[in-house]
Amino acid sequence: MGSVARRGADWQAPRKLKRFLTYSGIAGFPKPFGVKDVNLHVLPAGPIQTNAYLLTVPARGEAVLIDAPGDVWRDVQPILAAEKCRLTELWITHGHWDHTQGGADVVKETGAKVRAHADDRVLIETPEVMERFMGERLKLKPIRVDHWVQPGERFDALGKSVEVRHVPGHCPGNVLFYFAAEHAAFVGDALFNGSIGRTDLPGGNFAQLEHAIREQIYTLPEETVIFPGHGPQTTVGDERAHNPYVSG
Ligand SMILES: [Zn+2]
Ligand SMILES: [Zn+2]
Repeated sequence: MGSVARRGADWQAPRKLKRFLTYSGIAGFPKPFGVKDVNLHVLPAGPIQTNAYLLTVPARGEAVLIDAPGDVWRDVQPILAAEKCRLTELWITHGHWDHTQGGADVVKETGAKVRAHADDRVLIETPEVMERFMGERLKLKPIRVDHWVQPGERFDALGKSVEVRHVPGHCPGNVLFYFAAEHAAFVGDALFNGSIGRTDLPGGNFAQLEHAIREQIYTLPEETVIFPGHGPQTTVGDERAHNPYVSG
């Protein structure tokens, strides 16, 4: 692992690039969810193209943002304006800088309430610690978290039911947000289309990640669409069958 990781990157692109490119087409993320009232905007942003996912429900005038790469507000703001939605919440899948860099600005602009897992509290509240191990000046601002999520916790958002699952191993506080009725899981950097999260960063552990993927992701219904922190979407069934790092 690591041969194609870019400097500062926190994920490993898949080995099978052909499959990576053809699965859904990077520019052609299909319309999400299959749920009429929710729009899913996939917004790759920041220096290493981290996926932010903006979920909007114009009928309710509400939106939720999952992860906040650098400068994501530039992409989010016009969509909220066009769809007449207010951003009520920001959910952080894990505390790595490329998922949090734009978070303070988003909160300042919107007052969105923030959810994250306490095992990444140090990274989120004192992000300068990451500059040391990434070896770069990243100009990170801390984010104040309003609600520390618990594994197995369920809550309602956008009129939908959401379940939180803890998937550590890429970093200690990686969680996924699972919309059971919509067959969608936003998994951060635990699992990718044809790959898995890096485990060589501080707090990473391959055995822990492998176990968590099997217990927390591969146990979801196989048609569940996985929306990862980088690259194109996939499904639970596809990764169980083909993932080269963690077999199903
Ligand atoms: Zn990460
Ligand atoms: Zn990442």
